[in-house]
Amino acid sequence: PKPIVVIVGRPNVGKSTLFNRIVGGRVAIVENEPGVTRDRLYQDAEWAGRAFTLVDTGGLDLRETGEIAGGVRRQVELAVREADAVLFVVDARAELTATDREVAAMLRRNNKPVLLVANKVENFSRTEHLAVFYELGLGEPIPVSAAEGLNTGDMLDRLLAVL
Ligand code: GDP
Ligand code: MG
Repeated sequence: PKPIVVIVGRPNVGKSTLFNRIVGGRVAIVENEPGVTRDRLYQDAEWAGRAFTLVDTGGLDLRETGEIAGGVRRQVELAVREADAVLFVVDARAELTATDREVAAMLRRNNKPVLLVANKVENFSRTEHLAVFYELGLGEPIPVSAAEGLNTGDMLDRLLAVL
């Protein structure tokens, strides 16, 4: 069976954009408003000749219940349970939020490999501000732009190394 790679993170950080970038199509719906991807979305993907199944999570986006933190917890638990590796996406253009910290804490308690992906980096000459993400205790943040496809190949190389 193919390894399962799950993308988690709070709404609007670019999970679905990254999913589409990796699978090479427009499978997941990208929206400016959080709350679009309702369920987990599975798609076969390949990088450097290795196949894996990529999962986009959107059940985080439980805006209508007003229980985002609870929704995040449940979605991350369910997704991580079946994952062989996790891509934890944060928004490099935004502040660290309580939800980011909560997801990070859950992932640290789990023994699955996690890559910390700092998305929305379009200027690689200015990455000093990414240092704040070390606080999450998940190692070095990997800067990418899912929208522009910048550094996503390096990120995938590092993913294969932990699969
Ligand atoms: P999700 O809720 O985490 O799945 O986030 P989406 O993939 O739906 O993206 C949320 C918003 O962020 C959309 O407006 C995207 O166009 C935007 N976005 C996603 N990736 C990038 C990126 O690499 N750079 C920039 N500037 N915007 C991005
Ligand atoms: Mg989404």
